[in-house]
Amino acid sequence: MAISTSELPDIASAVLAFARSRRQMADRAEAELLVAACEWADLHPAESVSDAAAFTVPGGGEHEEPVAGPGAPLVAEFCIPEFGAVLDLHQPIVCDGYQPSARLREQVILRDRTCVFPWCTRPARGCDLDHIVPREHGGPTSTANLAALCRRHHRLKTHSAWTYVRTGPAAYTWTSPHGHTYVRDPAGTEPG
Ligand SMILES: [Zn+2]
Repeated sequence: MAISTSELPDIASAVLAFARSRRQMADRAEAELLVAACEWADLHPAESVSDAAAFTVPGGGEHEEPVAGPGAPLVAEFCIPEFGAVLDLHQPIVCDGYQPSARLREQVILRDRTCVFPWCTRPARGCDLDHIVPREHGGPTSTANLAALCRRHHRLKTHSAWTYVRTGPAAYTWTSPHGHTYVRDPAGTEPG
């Protein structure tokens, strides 16, 4: 948005406040865009598109091509890479407080996809974000120290002897109270 010079404040603290306010607006707009896009993607999983809406752009001839359904790009093919480009899934983000920023939250949701407890398939979007190393033990609110856990498994982790460590971008090694280990990564869960 263009800013006219008459809008610009003329004392340092006011300039700072103005800059922060504009930055917050920009961050909020970006977060809202991501949330809207991700929700749209959630509503249109790639495997459902061909059933949901198979139609072509009218006009005929060589320009007639499907925008959905067989032969059209899958939602995930154009959607998820776009999100990934906007929101680098591997760029470390660190927040000061206990609550992650909207941007960090989206990053963890897109990276983990589901609750990261062994075999759990609950979508990350409805999950809690767990501090892997608890905040009270110095764990930061960051890309490296947050993981998606559904409420049930978040409670289990908090109140039982299950422990886990992050071993890769979306890979976690869990240890059960009896000492068994399980490796959870984007491909699924395997005994460790
Ligand atoms: Zn779970």
